Amino acid sequence: MNADAVGGRGSSAFAEATADKSDPPLDYDVVVVGGGNAALCAALTASEAGRRVAVVERAPRPFRGGNSRHTRNLRCAHAAPTAVLTDNYSEGEFLDDLHRVNGGVSDEALSRLLIRQSVECAEWMGRYGARFQAALRGTLHLSRTNAFFLGGGKALLNAYYASAARLGVDVFYDAEVVDLEIEAGRFRTVTIATGGRHRVLRAAAAVIASGGFESNLAWLREAWGDAADRFIVRGTPYNTGGPLRLLLDAGAEPVGDPRAVSILDPPGQHLGPRDHNARACAHGVRGYAGARGNMMVPLP
Ligand SMILES: Cc1cc2nc3c(=O)[nH]c(=O)nc-3n(C[C@H](O)[C@H](O)[C@H](O)COP(=O)(O)OP(=O)(O)OC[C@H]3O[C@@H](n4cnc5c(N)ncnc54)[C@H](O)[C@@H]3O)c2cc1C
Repeated sequence: MNADAVGGRGSSAFAEATADKSDPPLDYDVVVVGGGNAALCAALTASEAGRRVAVVERAPRPFRGGNSRHTRNLRCAHAAPTAVLTDNYSEGEFLDDLHRVNGGVSDEALSRLLIRQSVECAEWMGRYGARFQAALRGTLHLSRTNAFFLGGGKALLNAYYASAARLGVDVFYDAEVVDLEIEAGRFRTVTIATGGRHRVLRAAAAVIASGGFESNLAWLREAWGDAADRFIVRGTPYNTGGPLRLLLDAGAEPVGDPRAVSILDPPGQHLGPRDHNARACAHGVRGYAGARGNMMVPLP
């Protein structure tokens, strides 16, 4: 079943996706939870490797793509000018920039991996339909460091979803992951709720790419206290951290700082401290690349 649009456009496959939990599980090699950039990259990679892949996206099809649909650009190290990037941006300079933002509090090995892989990222993305454009003059001074998606994050995600459909990836829209079965440390099944009913997907592996809990003000309050009352969720409303909670409840070890966010102002720039609450937030910033930023702090 290639269910691009299961649950999204009233296709004939919709009925199958909304069948009851008592129905036999649907079998895959890999189930990817989430429908943003991380999820689609994982799905495309697994599918290219010959695996049967399902993507489970909580959002309905018109709102698919998580915060990735709001993004505009990607920071890339490069040794020489490219079609869309000027001059050069060394891996060392990228690392220095990252440390400047996160105060040096980051996983060094992961940071270096991220930066090294960024060199080839644009080419990889191009294979799945991503297109880039040079930075517009007068927007931000990012022409040297950041490659801009032609058409923004939505166009990027549309290209990825089209590639996934071509590769035969099944996509379940409007499908919230509500349970993960993990037995003796091994993933077994994922249960999705869609159309008021449940369905079980069984797979050899699961990739949890469902963002953080940045849309969950109650959970943010646990990390930020009263300051969270002033947060306005500006990105996707679907990243409430349900799959993360399921993993934690199953004994997964949390890593990182729950206060690690990037703060954005209305034009999408990352804020420096502007008031007490914003300052508290700025101290929690743990890196831009890959950071989960969808909060806006109202400023005086
Ligand atoms: C306004 C804005 C602008 C930004 N601009 C940039 C930028 O220009 N450059 C940059 O590098 N970063 C930018 N960021 C940050 C960037 O968007 C994120 O770092 C990135 O999108 C994270 O990708 P992801 O795939 O991990 O998560 P997301 O893209 O958020 O995807 C998470 C997915 O999980 C799904 N999901 C959540 N819960 C469930 C569940 N229970 N069941 C099933 N699915 C679920 C969601 O629906 C979503 O599809 C921006 C963020 C915002 C909000």
